[in-house]
This record gives sequence, structure tokens and C-alpha cells, in this order.
Amino acid sequence: MVLQPDDKHDDALAGLKLGSTIAARQLKYSLFLAAILGLLITAFQAYNDYGWLYGVYTQANQRTIASNVPVATEVLNKSDRELADVMARGMLNQRSIARITLTDAEHGIFFEKKRPLGQIPASRWAEKLFGGLQTVVIPVRDPDSQSATVSGEMIIELNPQVYVSSFMSRVAWSFLSNMILAVMMAMAMAFAAMSYYVFSRPLVHLGDYIIKADPTDYDRPMEMPPHHRHDDEIQLLGSVTVGLFGMIRGQVGQLRRARDELQDANVNLEARVQQRTEELKDAMQKLEVLASTDPLTGLPNRRAYLVRLEEAISVWRRRDTPMSVILLDIDRFKNFNDTHGHQAGDAVLVALATSMKATLRDIDLPARMGGEEFAVLLPGEEMDGAMKLAERLRAEFEKSYVSYGGNKLSYTASFGVAGLPSSASAAALDAKVVRNLDALKSRENSDISALIYSLADRALYNAKETGRNRCVLTDFEMLFEQINA
Ligand code: GH3
Ligand code: MG
Ligand code: MG
Repeated sequence: MVLQPDDKHDDALAGLKLGSTIAARQLKYSLFLAAILGLLITAFQAYNDYGWLYGVYTQANQRTIASNVPVATEVLNKSDRELADVMARGMLNQRSIARITLTDAEHGIFFEKKRPLGQIPASRWAEKLFGGLQTVVIPVRDPDSQSATVSGEMIIELNPQVYVSSFMSRVAWSFLSNMILAVMMAMAMAFAAMSYYVFSRPLVHLGDYIIKADPTDYDRPMEMPPHHRHDDEIQLLGSVTVGLFGMIRGQVGQLRRARDELQDANVNLEARVQQRTEELKDAMQKLEVLASTDPLTGLPNRRAYLVRLEEAISVWRRRDTPMSVILLDIDRFKNFNDTHGHQAGDAVLVALATSMKATLRDIDLPARMGGEEFAVLLPGEEMDGAMKLAERLRAEFEKSYVSYGGNKLSYTASFGVAGLPSSASAAALDAKVVRNLDALKSRENSDISALIYSLADRALYNAKETGRNRCVLTDFEMLFEQINA
């Protein structure tokens, strides 16, 4: 990329006017310093000039006056006007002398000569610098006579204006020349500043390139640093910069790839976690079924049955919904196994389960409690209904048989029925039983499931004792005994 200084880079240069700003500052300060220096030199020169001119002025006046006193004596003694004229013209060569007057002893004017070029006015500057207009009166004596008789006076009028003008013009010229010198010095420094600007321009362009380059932007091709004709430090800086940009771009590329890979891995991981979670859920469900199902008959097992029993009891407590349980046990099953073999026994267990499932309603829950003992939970069923169902099952078993090894093998079972009646049906029971049931309902921590189970078990035992292949309803006297135990 070759930078064009005028068009699109102006904005960047506005932020990077390093060279030009320094140049402008340098010009300003050097002009100021040169002017101060010029003024100081001018003041010094003026001071020197004044001292020198003042000396010249006073010495010249004294010398001229002193050298002409003898001539004035001669003039007055001899009353020689010709000599007076020569003397006056000579004195007027001294530029500060404006008038010469010679008076005689009687104070009458003997001779007078003024500067011919009219009156030179005395300025306030003359007053301040040299003391202004001065009149000097020198008595003239005759050197031959012994007495101190005065033969007249020489009156001289002094005007320093000429010296003032000379001083002023010297100061003015000095000021002018010093100022010209100052401007020239400042120009020289400004030229140095300009060259600084020229030298710094490529650096400014390089800075502009660095600001604009974005090595992380993959959509843009990598730009080259601005063209530089000289093989110098700026060239080197440009090369180093573009090298660094290349490195940055490489690193950013690596980071991006790593980030993309990480994102992919994350997505994969999420998918796998989700899949595993599903599998785990399936397995849990299977496990749940396995844990609550009897493998031989496919019926719910004791664990599942007890959970549902608790639910039915709590519904009875809260809503006064009746519930009943039937407990049944195959009669003389040990003998059966011994006679026909264990496998024939298993076939009976399966047939009995199938028969139960076929006879019961959907809400009823048949379960294998263990061995050849089964149970049915009847939610919402009063005990007399449960007795009827038990009787039906008993009759069903009695008339059915299992075909095994070419034989038709029959079996029977005994039944015990227990339950919790609704208040309405409990009213028909003995008053003591009702009280006991009410007490049971209100006692929060009582283990009713164990109680019901044991009641049904007692009834079943009773059925076995009284001849088997029978159904026996629970005796609530038992419940009464247990509660008060
Ligand atoms: P009762 O009429 O008094 O119940 O007599 P019973 O012989 O049925 O009672 P007991 O408790 O003496 O015997 C139970 C028998 O049930 C013992 C056992 O061999 C048999 N049994 C238990 N579980 C299984 C099983 O899964 N398969 C088979 N084939 N037999 C079993
Ligand atoms: Mg048994
Ligand atoms: Mg048995």
C-alpha cells in the first residue's frame, strides 16, 4: 500500500501530526528567543553608545574651550575682529557649539557668531541624556598685566542635539539590524524544523499504517507498510512491524481453530451427555420395573404392593375412601411340588397369576408377595365387596387346572380378607370397632399397613386352620387387641 498524504489519510494524520506540531512549536519559540536576544543586544549596544558619546561630547567641549581661551585673550587685547572670526569658525567645527559671543570689559558685545544652519532645537531627549542647552561663561584676563583685571568674557552656548540625533540613529540602526538578525536566526531554525517535519513524515505514515492495520481481520489481505525509498531505520521498523503483524495473524488463526474445535467438542459432548442421560433414564425405568416386578409371574412384587398399600391407606385417612386387601396362599403346595416337581409348581404360579389378572379390575393391584403367597389391593372397595371377589377367585382356581407333562393338575388356595371401611359402612359395625377405627385414623404415626397386613394374614391362617380352599373375613377384635397393645 502506498500512502497518499492528501486524501484518505488526512484524518489519521490529524491525530498524528507529530512532526508538524514540533516544527511549529520550534519556529514559535525560536522567533521569541531571537527577538529577546536581539532586544538585549540592542539595549547593551545603546548603553555602550551612550557612554561613549557622552565622553566624546564633554571632552570635545572642554578641549575646544580650553584651546581657544588664549586666542580670545589675544582678540580682546588687540581688538582683532579678523582673528575673532577665524577663531569662531574654528570653534563652530565642534558640532555641539551653537554660538560664540565675546564681550569687552564693559560687557558690550565685541563679537558674536552663531551656527549658520539656523537654530537647532534642543529636545527633551537632549535634556535627559546630555543635560540640554548650556551656556558657559569664561572670563578672559590679560596675561601681561599683574592685576586680575578682566578684559572681557567668552560666552559659549552648547547644544547636544547633534549628539542626541547621532545616538538615536545609532540605536535605531542597531535595533533594526538586530531584529533582522533575529528573524534570520528564526528562519534558520524554522528551516531546521521543516527538515524535521520532512524526516518525520515517513514515520507518521508508518504510524498511520499501524493504526489502520488489523492483523486479526481475516477478511482483509495483509497490507504492506507504506513505501519508503531509503534503506534506513524507518524501513527496518516497517519490516519488523509487518513481520509482527504476520505473527499475530498466525497466532489468532491458531486460537480461532482451537476455539472452533473446542466448540465442536462441546457440541459433541452435549449430544453424548444427552444420549447417555436418555440411556440412563431408560435403564432406570427398566431397573424400576425390575425392582418392582416378580420375574416368574410378571406381577408386581411385595415392594410395589406395599407402596400402593400406603397410598390407599392415606386416601382412606384423608377422604374416607374405603380399601381392602386379599391375601391368598396356595394350599399344600409343598406336597404339590413334591408330587409333580418344582417346574409344575412354577406353572401353577404362572397360571394363577394369569387367572388373577383376567378376573381383576384395572385399579385393583395383584401382587406376588413371595413363594406361593399372593395379595390383591382393592382401592375404593369395602370389605364385603372384597369378600365377594375373593370367593370368585377361589371358585375360579378350584375349577381351573394346569396341563403339565400330559396331566391336568388342579390346585386350590385359601383367602384372608381385611380392609378399612368408609365411615358409612363402619356405622353398621360394632361401636367399639368404630371407635378403634376412628382412633387409628387420627393417630398420625401408626403403621396401619402392617396392621392391615397382619389382620389379613390372621384371616388367611384361620382359613387354613378351618379346612383350606376357603375365604375368611378379618375379625376386628384382633385389630382392637393390636391397637391397644
Ligand atoms: P399350606 O396349605 O399350609 O400352605 O401348605 P404348603 O405346603 O403350601 O405350605 P408350606 O409353607 O409348608 O410350603 C410352601 C411351599 O411352597 C414350599 C415351597 O417348596 C413352595 N414354593 C415356594 N416358592 C416356590 C416357587 O417359586 N416355585 C415352586 N415350584 N414352589 C415354591
Ligand atoms: Mg405359604
Ligand atoms: Mg401354601
